[in-house]
Amino acid sequence: MATESKTAFYITDSGLALADKLRNLYPDIKIVRYSSAAVADSWATERGLIFIMAAGIVVRSIAALIKDKHTDPGVVVLDDKGQFVISLLSGHLGGANGLAAEVAQFLGGKAVITTASDVNNLPALDLWAEKLGLAIDERGQLSHTGTRLLDNGSLNLFTEIQVTLPDAFINTDDPSDADVLITNKKFIASATPPRLYLRPKNLVVGIGCNSGTSADEIESAITNVLDKHNLSFLSVGSLATIDLKASEPGLLDFARKYGLGIITFTPDELNRVPDIEKSEVVFKATGAYSVSEAAARIASGETGEFIVRKQKIGNVTLAVAVENAGPSAVSPSCACPAKMSGKIYVVGTGPGRVEHITPHALDAIGKSQAIVGYGTYLDLITDLIKDKEVISTGMTQEIDRCRAAVELALGGKTVAVVSGGDPGIYAMAGLVLEILRSQENRLGRGTAETTGVAVEVIPGISALNAGASRLGAPLMHDFAVISLSDRLTPWELIEKRLKAAAMADFVIVLYNPKSMGRPDHIDKARAICLRYRSAETPVGIVKAAMRENEKVIISNLRDMLNHDIDMQTTVFIGNSSTFAWNNMMITPRGYTASREQTNDQSIP
Ligand code: SAH
Repeated sequence: MATESKTAFYITDSGLALADKLRNLYPDIKIVRYSSAAVADSWATERGLIFIMAAGIVVRSIAALIKDKHTDPGVVVLDDKGQFVISLLSGHLGGANGLAAEVAQFLGGKAVITTASDVNNLPALDLWAEKLGLAIDERGQLSHTGTRLLDNGSLNLFTEIQVTLPDAFINTDDPSDADVLITNKKFIASATPPRLYLRPKNLVVGIGCNSGTSADEIESAITNVLDKHNLSFLSVGSLATIDLKASEPGLLDFARKYGLGIITFTPDELNRVPDIEKSEVVFKATGAYSVSEAAARIASGETGEFIVRKQKIGNVTLAVAVENAGPSAVSPSCACPAKMSGKIYVVGTGPGRVEHITPHALDAIGKSQAIVGYGTYLDLITDLIKDKEVISTGMTQEIDRCRAAVELALGGKTVAVVSGGDPGIYAMAGLVLEILRSQENRLGRGTAETTGVAVEVIPGISALNAGASRLGAPLMHDFAVISLSDRLTPWELIEKRLKAAAMADFVIVLYNPKSMGRPDHIDKARAICLRYRSAETPVGIVKAAMRENEKVIISNLRDMLNHDIDMQTTVFIGNSSTFAWNNMMITPRGYTASREQTNDQSIP
């Protein structure tokens, strides 16, 4: 899709600006001012026509050109804010559905697709996979496969386990014919890329190791054996071992790193497994005649089968068995307690509008079943979360919000905890991790009952990045970030840090500069800075960066209080060499007297 020839037609200036933006998605796109003659010229030669204007104009100008769905190009229409991207003509064969979806995703708008098969049956592939407990190999492949679904109206699926297929899938026994494969095999030779591989978590790795074996050694032994047998690491659902190894640090670290449960068995249980090679040496050390094979055998259930018999690699012995229990093999609610545990994404949504959210954060929000966050931030992303369970409480109830998120994840859900800006800067990441830590301590560290909740912190553009970009370049040299909120920090400590930063000539970024309860904090901060810096020192005041009501002011230490500073504002106080130029604020990269003669190699 991306390589085929495309033309964008515009009428207004904002249409042209939007078309220019599309160059980042399609570098070769032709951008043409709309005229019916220009449309007629492109009709036969282009594969995708994108119109940034009212749909009525487009319908009138293409009506006489339309022939049939085998030769007509894909036609997509969008409004000049890029909010709605309509697939107007040749949705499947002409590629307009896929094109509309790509453009909408890129612009943060909504694709309007009306071809019946897609509208009725379009499964969100990632959500469907995750609901079945399938891991997605190479997420990048998702959008390609999604586009195929939009282009063809269906997807061919090859599966080695039983699953209930949504209508848009057609089952195939031939892997070479499949768009999507559900298999624990790393590659199936006849199914060359690009394909979407989904991984059932149906492999059990039975494992034994000497005391003190490191997590790295365990990991490399497992990957080694899986690679050799063409098995995907993502299909490993659990580890099984003898109870003696339940608190082996390397094994626990490895399991925690990948969110795997460890199932343990007593020597008696292991010794009851028939048809297993017995080792006297192992028996002397552990009381069981076999650890890895026997443990894998029991943990894989009644119908489990060996795929890899016992292997010894360095300090590790392991065996791999597969659970063959049909649909329940991929059900997230199977016997192992760790598999019940879900995932928490702690997501930063940036300073304001959707285009400042990273694609990775959008992806995490898309994958989450529940969204937890503060109302104002959620208001900025309403479109992204409208089909989800949303838990939103007031600003002062962060702890309750994080607890709710952890509870949901412990119940097996994928949850996004959403903060504005970056989630690790005066936001929720720390709280989520602290609550998880105390949960884990409660459950007892070093047992198989650790929470098993996987956490991923996804960064966002913080107010300091957003504000600095609006001001020019105030943060080119060392800076200190200080929050003036004394809700969780004693004011004396805040004053101490202000003094230290002012004295050491850091550029100072002030978050939470003024609250309803404490309007005088900013006055005090200014007074401290004035003790060490000239009244002419530039001060940047950025309110609501990247939002509708954005306001950017360059002032100085003397006059700064004449401007509106509120809780949506971040204040940037320059260092002794910061200067203002053309309504921008610049802190030189170094302190050398003449910039011309620095020739500084470290400036990229
Ligand atoms: N996690 C957020 C910060 C939360 S603390 C981040 O990384 O940006 C809240 C403070 O952040 C506000 O009082 C304000 O000082 C600053 N802030 C957040 N968003 C802002 C924006 N769009 N423009 C200016 N300042 C902002």
